[in-house]
Amino acid sequence: MLQHPEEDPPVPQVQTGHVVETHVVETVKGPVDTAELGQTLMHEHVFVLTADVQQNHPEEWGSEDERVADAVQKLTALAATGVRTIVDPTVIGLGRYIPRIQRIAEQVDLNIVVATGCYTYDDVPFFFHHRGPALDEAVGAEVPDPMVDMFVGDIQDGIAGTGVRAAFLKCAIDRQGMTAGVERVMRAVARAHRATGAPITVHTHPGSRTGLAVQQVLGNEGVDPRRVVLGHSGDTTDVDHLSELAEAGFVLGMDRFGINLETTFEARADTVVEMCRRGHAGSMVLSQDASCYIDWLAPGVMDLLPQWHYTHVHDDVLPYLRGQGVTEEQITTMLVDNPRRYFENVGRY
Ligand SMILES: [Zn+2]
Repeated sequence: MLQHPEEDPPVPQVQTGHVVETHVVETVKGPVDTAELGQTLMHEHVFVLTADVQQNHPEEWGSEDERVADAVQKLTALAATGVRTIVDPTVIGLGRYIPRIQRIAEQVDLNIVVATGCYTYDDVPFFFHHRGPALDEAVGAEVPDPMVDMFVGDIQDGIAGTGVRAAFLKCAIDRQGMTAGVERVMRAVARAHRATGAPITVHTHPGSRTGLAVQQVLGNEGVDPRRVVLGHSGDTTDVDHLSELAEAGFVLGMDRFGINLETTFEARADTVVEMCRRGHAGSMVLSQDASCYIDWLAPGVMDLLPQWHYTHVHDDVLPYLRGQGVTEEQITTMLVDNPRRYFENVGRY
């Protein structure tokens, strides 16, 4: 049958939305070429704060100027190890406040990459309880989740008028598993990822194999696992489980070096050694999940964790890995190449 061109079925258009430049990452001080990221710690906070407690009970926080000066000093010491970039997954629920981070970034020779997203292990924050999908039944139709527009706006337009753009998305799943709230945030994160190309970091609880639940939901949303860090993967020593996730394409965050309450330095480090031996250096990133100040811990608790600080990876972990046969090439892969690839928007949506 003859077909006139104007009668041809429409060619499906690839929905690209705002296409993030492939080789550029937004940082607090502006865009940086991925080739310039250098050694990158993929999960470090500057501050972790409970915003409404801090607003009303700021006694422990004390002087803003002193906290900023302390952060500048700690991050300057980190930069002296050769680290060029930190990736800070502080989002709603963790007290993100970009003007303070800008003030610090201006004084340190380090790229700080900031995030958008929402941190919860169970329910969505009350702000979202009666917005978006929560209204589906009431209105008898699907209501879009306002979280998606908030996340996309942070990535495309900048955060709260600061001009600083988020470069990645963050959500969480913990022991509670895939609760309705956790799933809602994860799907909103996936949709913002598809609209912008910004990669994703998920706080996971590998002891209960939550990576598999992440795989199911993000897979269902069409997310490429190579653009997803499964954070806190290094909390387990189950290398068979980690190998399974690496083989599925995920990036594994061996990112809590120094938090040795339920595990040990050697257990964390030996897991990385064994994963390297199995050929998975290309699937791991290293970090500490440290901060200059976290209000989740009473003063003094930090004394129980003497290795939990920004330079532990370079002071202690890398020498240990080298001693166990991890090569310089594998270390570069984990600290430089994997972070760079994660931020490069190779997919098309
Ligand atoms: Zn963290």
